[in-house]
Amino acid sequence: MYDPACIFCRIASGEIPAERVLETEHALVFRDIHPAAPVHCLVIPKQHIPTANELDAVPAEALADLLRAAAAAAKALGVAEDGWRLVANVNRDGGQEVFHLHLHLLGGRRLRWPVG
Ligand code: AMP
Repeated sequence: MYDPACIFCRIASGEIPAERVLETEHALVFRDIHPAAPVHCLVIPKQHIPTANELDAVPAEALADLLRAAAAAAKALGVAEDGWRLVANVNRDGGQEVFHLHLHLLGGRRLRWPVG
């Protein structure tokens, strides 16, 4: 499903440019425009899903592809060995600003835990 009002749908379709890192059948990985770490990408399903609360609507194959795309991007970007993190912000308390499911892939420095 494509939502013309959704910026990440428009990035996935190629209408809006992004610094693409990797693409699979169901997922796209591109650089975040406001990086919070030396490596900061967004891993999105091509299908429009607003939040991680709606994961039941995503076929298992597409979900597996999403996670594998994140791991492949971490490897391609050279952070697999030293380590990296995947974060999904969900709704208000999670700090979600874009309502198309996305995983933040962060790495390239020692990440603090717990997050704020
Ligand atoms: P969240 O707060 O989890 O919804 O994060 C949304 C993320 O999308 C933020 O880190 C933004 O910097 C990022 N973002 C918003 N618009 C774009 C864009 N056009 N290209 C790349 N990243 C974007």
